[in-house]
Amino acid sequence: MLEATDLMVFYENMLALNNISITCKKNRITGVFGANSAGKSTLMYSLSGIMLDIQKKEKMAGGERITLYGQLTLEGRDIMTMKPSDRARAGIVLCPERRRLFSESSVMENLRIGGYLATKSQARASLEFVMALFPALVRLQKRLAGFLSGGEQQMVAIGRALMAQPKVLLLDEPLMGLSPLMQATLIKAVKKIQEESDISIIVAEQYARPVFPIVDYAYILENGAAVMEGTRDELMNNPDVKSAYFGMS
Ligand code: ATP
Repeated sequence: MLEATDLMVFYENMLALNNISITCKKNRITGVFGANSAGKSTLMYSLSGIMLDIQKKEKMAGGERITLYGQLTLEGRDIMTMKPSDRARAGIVLCPERRRLFSESSVMENLRIGGYLATKSQARASLEFVMALFPALVRLQKRLAGFLSGGEQQMVAIGRALMAQPKVLLLDEPLMGLSPLMQATLIKAVKKIQEESDISIIVAEQYARPVFPIVDYAYILENGAAVMEGTRDELMNNPDVKSAYFGMS
């Protein structure tokens, strides 16, 4: 279980995360929904530890001061100051916004890079899992990642994250810019990851509608604060959520 308590992030004096507490239970899909600039990526960077790298780089460059407060635990262990590489080793793996693949490398090379922390047998099993999850990648495995469609690239990005043996998989806006059909394919795949592994998943998205059917629990972010949270059914039956996030009254 990954648990963040009273997480706060400041970019200089700007409060980007305001006292956020979220829990991602084992083998659950947790949704984080919010408009542009609500703080989704800041939250994902804080959970994965990349925020510590960004903070360090900014400090070295004499740039803005980034401050983090709060507690973060993975299976009860304090990881608030743990480096991102150690967090990845501990099982927190981020599939970042805009995919960030190695575009000059092939699909297979991208997947294998993801497996650098895995043993040979883990890598073999994960690769088999990824290819079963995304059969389209089988015939694309020698293709350069930069030449794939957005949806295919997202499959590779999720595949690469799975190769890193996650316990908690962080998906930052995996549906961004994709067609409704491709969105549905990816959502089905995310559900399948939950069904066929014991991975916990946090998925951040601007639009709740396509993701909502698969989440167990969700948080709604506004201006860096979690303004609402609940199980899928609780949120679905909340009239404010319905009108604001689903356009239904
Ligand atoms: P998007 O959907 O646009 O990715 P988001 O919900 O992921 O939005 P964040 O990227 O976390 O939002 O941004 C939260 C707020 O923090 C925004 O107001 C953004 O402008 C600001 N912000 C993000 N990164 C920085 C930074 N490095 N320096 C200063 N402000 C930042």
